[in-house]
Amino acid sequence: MNIDAYFERLRDAARRAGFTLTVYGQAGEWELPLLKREPESKGPRLYLSSGIHGDEPAGPMALLDLLRRDAFPRGAAYTIFPLLNPRALAIGTRETPEGLDLNRDYGPEPRSHEIRAHLAAMGDQVFDLTLCLHEDYDGEGFYLFAHQREEVGTDFPALALEAAAAVMPIDPRTEIDEMPAREGRVHPPPSVADPNRADLPEALRLFHHHKASVVMTTETPSGQDLDLRRRTQGAVVEKVLARFLEKGIS
Ligand SMILES: [Zn+2]
Repeated sequence: MNIDAYFERLRDAARRAGFTLTVYGQAGEWELPLLKREPESKGPRLYLSSGIHGDEPAGPMALLDLLRRDAFPRGAAYTIFPLLNPRALAIGTRETPEGLDLNRDYGPEPRSHEIRAHLAAMGDQVFDLTLCLHEDYDGEGFYLFAHQREEVGTDFPALALEAAAAVMPIDPRTEIDEMPAREGRVHPPPSVADPNRADLPEALRLFHHHKASVVMTTETPSGQDLDLRRRTQGAVVEKVLARFLEKGIS
């Protein structure tokens, strides 16, 4: 990915859509952008992120598409980290140039500069719903990982899968990343949710430390056409956010 070109487009689209872009750190030659937009009165706190794996461009592109179309619904407080790992995105690798998988660095003592900066930028904020956008080379269609608290009435993963299915097939595998899966939903065993793991992923950090009621990780298959992948990610985000703003967690 051309990071400089992406950053410029992001800055422009964010401004037009009423978001404030601040820089929360530096990664190599690139600045790390954080987008925020507050509602006029109180609203749900929504968190989105992408670009933590440098060989997964559909997420950052989908978030840029949504900004350009001004498609983030009004009435919510947004915290968006669209470019978590620019050094890896620049060279198209999953890991940083040092070989670190940043999505395994949210434990008590992060090793990477990027994730220390990310955690400092988040502080102890509480979020209601979080979406982390990913891709998978082994993917055979769209799928997701989700954690919902018991009080949540709406089946947000089902909504996400419905939105994705309108654009591309759902991953038919019954085992994904060595975990049981069914109709595009991965069901991690309880041990995966240990909040003190050194290799904690971002989504579980958001679930345990930032108290999100709905935590989802979306995955598009890298083998599919990139345009289709970014449209799928965008459709999922739009549908989930629209429902959350309409009905909250009920
Ligand atoms: Zn990923």
